[in-house]
Amino acid sequence: MTKKIDRRKFIKAAGAATAVSAIGMPTLALGAGKKVVVVGGGTGGATAAKYLKVADPSIEVTLIEQNKDYFTCYFSNEVLSGHRTLDSIKHGYDGLKKHGVNVVFDHVTAIDAAKKTVTTKGGKSFAYDRCIVSPGIDFKWETIEGYDEAASHKIAHAYKAGPQTALLRSQLEAMPDGGKVVIAPPPNPFRCPPGPYERASQIAAYLKAHKPKSKIIIMDPKPKFSKMGLFTQGWKKFYGYGTDNSMIEWHGSAEEAGITKVDVANLTMTSGFGEEVKADVMNIIPAQKAGKIAFLAGLTNDKGWCPIDLKTFESKKHPGIHVIGDSSVAKGMPKSGYAANSQGKVCAAAVAAMLNGKEAGVPSFVNTCYSIVAKDWGISVAAVYKLKADGSKIQKVSGGLTPMDASDAAHKAEEAYANSWYNNIVDDIFH
Ligand SMILES: Cc1cc2nc3c(=O)[nH]c(=O)nc-3n(C[C@H](O)[C@H](O)[C@H](O)COP(=O)(O)OP(=O)(O)OC[C@H]3O[C@@H](n4cnc5c(N)ncnc54)[C@H](O)[C@@H]3O)c2cc1C
Repeated sequence: MTKKIDRRKFIKAAGAATAVSAIGMPTLALGAGKKVVVVGGGTGGATAAKYLKVADPSIEVTLIEQNKDYFTCYFSNEVLSGHRTLDSIKHGYDGLKKHGVNVVFDHVTAIDAAKKTVTTKGGKSFAYDRCIVSPGIDFKWETIEGYDEAASHKIAHAYKAGPQTALLRSQLEAMPDGGKVVIAPPPNPFRCPPGPYERASQIAAYLKAHKPKSKIIIMDPKPKFSKMGLFTQGWKKFYGYGTDNSMIEWHGSAEEAGITKVDVANLTMTSGFGEEVKADVMNIIPAQKAGKIAFLAGLTNDKGWCPIDLKTFESKKHPGIHVIGDSSVAKGMPKSGYAANSQGKVCAAAVAAMLNGKEAGVPSFVNTCYSIVAKDWGISVAAVYKLKADGSKIQKVSGGLTPMDASDAAHKAEEAYANSWYNNIVDDIFH
């Protein structure tokens, strides 16, 4: 096991969318009307599809999604700890069909902004009056030598839930007591800023109960992270953080130098400073960008994300196409499921208004991110947002964090709120 971490370079944290057509039928031949095609049936897309039908049932809404089941990323870390099953985070599309959404399972290969058509791998073409795109994220595979899509079938990123989650969980189960888990979080901006740290917490909960001699090393390309004070407080309380016997070690990089190389066969990773860390289980979360279809449709900027009008989420690159969720540059909001859900509703209302010749209203948004650090110990960050008067930014108007001096009873209540939030949001999106 090699572990050479230069303390000058790595900081150790102090304290140590009823279609007229039949399912799958192209709507292209049906002539002009109020047709919306939603690309991607994840958190943002499924919300937008449902709420378009709620806003105006006369709109033909077609949702095109490549997978028959959607696994939420939220609460996928609890699958890693064994506190949830993969089945408990799996959701289907029957609920959306009941709302009159035409659900098509296919992979979108092109969006033609001039002809206003969406084309699929299955050879179908769908005409739209407005299109909403919510394809989530893709990875910048080129940023880490040795770690590409093929390698991710051996070393999981587990940042798109489903088989990736199952892979990481099975490796944790197979690891011996006394083994080392290395987590490499991505540089900013990325989906779910607290995600890697909640993951460390959930894996620690599993190891503490089943493999107590084991360690988790977080090799972070960033000098700080979301809810850092609250996470480290919980790690101290439950996992000996800051002591020689700590189950979790966090190594942040002041120079923002992330992992540059991964040796899949030998389970070693190399930092930007040439330091090497060997692991028993590795979790690499590469740098991120908008989902591939956003690039193919010409919706991205030079940073790899989709610039939009913040009132309507209409693309600044291609009028008639709206982008929501993680792929969008929703200036002022984090890339989260609750944010994507909130944007899905705002965008649905704006698109319904625009299709009916009305002006879109001034939007408000909401976001809360819960993290469960240990059993009965939850933390959260919450905010309410409103579009700034000049339209330049989505502005936080109120919000807050779990207080550092919250009681154990308050942390227990946060865990209950987290579980309740999960039930509510999946009900809101898929039922
Ligand atoms: C570990 C982890 C924990 C998280 N925890 C939380 C949390 O506690 N709270 C929270 O609010 N958020 C959380 N998130 C973030 C949340 O999951 C995302 O922000 C959210 O899913 C973004 O929604 P989206 O619609 O942009 O993308 P997604 O939900 O990823 O949906 C994209 C969909 O588009 C489909 N798609 C993509 N391309 C195509 C194509 N070409 N053709 C057809 N279909 C396509 C995909 O199959 C997918 O279903 C977490 C994320 C992770 C990784």
